[in-house]
Amino acid sequence: MDPDVFSKPSVDSLKVKPNLVDYDSSYANFAWESLLSELDWLPGGSLNKAHECIDRHALSNPEKVAMIWLGKNGEEETYTFSDMKRETDKFANVLKGLGIEKGDRVFMFMDRVPELYISVFGTLKAGAIAGPLFSAFGPDPVKDRLQDSGAVALITSPDLRKRISGILPDLTDLKHVIIINKLGRETSPLDEHDLLYDDIMSTASEESTIEQTSMHDYSIMHYTSGTTGKPKGAVHRHLAILQQYATGKWALDLHKDDVYWCTADPGWVTGTSYGMFAPWSNGVTQIIYEGGFRATAWYEVIQKYRVSVWYTAPTAIRMLMKAGVDLPKRYDTSSLRFIASVGEPLNPEGVAWGVDAFGIPFHDNWWQTETGAILIANYAAQEVRSGSMGRPIPGVKAGIIDEEYNEVPVGEEGQLAVRPGWPSMFHSYWGNQSLYNSRFKKGWYITGDTARKDEDGFYWFVGRADDVINTAGHLVGPFEVESALIEHPAVAEAGVIGKPDPLAMEVVKAFVSLHQGYEQSDELRREIMRFVRGKLAAAVAPREIAFIDSLPKTRSGKIMRRLLKARELGLPEGDTSTLEDE
Ligand code: ATP
Ligand code: MG
Repeated sequence: MDPDVFSKPSVDSLKVKPNLVDYDSSYANFAWESLLSELDWLPGGSLNKAHECIDRHALSNPEKVAMIWLGKNGEEETYTFSDMKRETDKFANVLKGLGIEKGDRVFMFMDRVPELYISVFGTLKAGAIAGPLFSAFGPDPVKDRLQDSGAVALITSPDLRKRISGILPDLTDLKHVIIINKLGRETSPLDEHDLLYDDIMSTASEESTIEQTSMHDYSIMHYTSGTTGKPKGAVHRHLAILQQYATGKWALDLHKDDVYWCTADPGWVTGTSYGMFAPWSNGVTQIIYEGGFRATAWYEVIQKYRVSVWYTAPTAIRMLMKAGVDLPKRYDTSSLRFIASVGEPLNPEGVAWGVDAFGIPFHDNWWQTETGAILIANYAAQEVRSGSMGRPIPGVKAGIIDEEYNEVPVGEEGQLAVRPGWPSMFHSYWGNQSLYNSRFKKGWYITGDTARKDEDGFYWFVGRADDVINTAGHLVGPFEVESALIEHPAVAEAGVIGKPDPLAMEVVKAFVSLHQGYEQSDELRREIMRFVRGKLAAAVAPREIAFIDSLPKTRSGKIMRRLLKARELGLPEGDTSTLEDE
């Protein structure tokens, strides 16, 4: 049996002294103000994320490597902080030359190539708001987002431009399309009005340029994952860098000599907050891997580049688990010092698998597009309670509240809420003030998640508020049931819903996909049923189990339980703009 708790490591046993050594004594009364002096403020009190992440390091440590880019065709490029400064200055000058002004929305729709990173930081230097979009989107989700945000410029590649050419005439605010043809890879014809990145950059001034944004000015916007409904455009301020910097240290334990790899795409908030802002504000070298998921390729990256801190997601961990625990043992992954996960609940099975595969547990942490940065985490120097999201970061007060917004006793389930005012808190849903306002009640920000807190202050995820199942008077969180199901050796992934029932109100129904080598059969179904009944209380155990080849997921890898439910009940599927190809 795997341990439930990976005990608190002695600091001496860790390869590197953790940044947050004594969590308990430092967290409660932490004042964010005390960190403001660690930022490199611009003259007159301005704050710009591009300066914090790029220019300050280019000035103090110009030859340090900022990014090692691994292209999908085996290409490799290395950029120092000084290279990044030059290229982002040039791109900011390009945008300014096009008349882009502070507050304008500049969107990126492209693969993970270095120019994506350059365009985001160039946009920030120009004072505009960056909006990266996931490159697997089809035309409609791109159109929705460009229209909703009123984007004036789009940076994309020839093939992606071709994919969305039909929607471009409808985008009345869009004035400029800039095309990046990385290494001349693509052959799609261009429109005569398009601007070619290589051309405009070759004549752009390298003059240092940075808009004097205030900490309250907007820097980036991200549409949420669409797991529970229509994606919302959460807008963040430059001030968010303070918390992205701090959590890079506290929750990911970044140190200056680390080689860091975040597997998230910048089309989702993890790919910018932790694939750009946290590592680079800490001056850390990061790997940008353009390729998709392949277990062997991922282990090769870790081995070859000596990755020391690795931040990934449960869906990726489950896929690695599917490929087997023997596979990582064929690689030298000894460089890994700290591994973490976000985006969905991390099943205890996944935490323990980290120990089997790499000798260290995955550290789960919790946050949302709206929170801009990690709020709850398992830290390097504290025990990992598998299945728990950890404890709030210093300076953040979380709580579990009831329908009247009062805190519930320890151990009880309720809505996960946070006292507003943390530095990376979103500042609006673009164009939807009333929805934004509706998230704040009686001095709390309501996260939309359900959780409980234990006596030591660890938070345990129960489910999305909408996903919690009410069966015969019991509230059941899908996570608990799914975690039990995937402990069965045949089960690769599980998604659990409440199915309406005349007697019990709802009954628990589970959809499971199987590991390779297992066949769907009634006998296996019965065996899985017996297995979970042995693990869960009778009221919580699924009444029905159905096999499914793969679970519907968002493009950021989250199980879309609302689709399982809609399909089960024959109801409309709602917004499917972020649904992964099935
Ligand atoms: P939408 O708001 O459009 O429905 P979404 O909430 O999935 O989509 P994100 O902001 O990308 O969009 O995801 C944040 C959510 O992901 C959290 O509210 C939570 O439900 C889930 N989540 C993130 N990290 C964790 C974690 N460590 N444990 C459990 N759930 C997590
Ligand atoms: Mg959400």
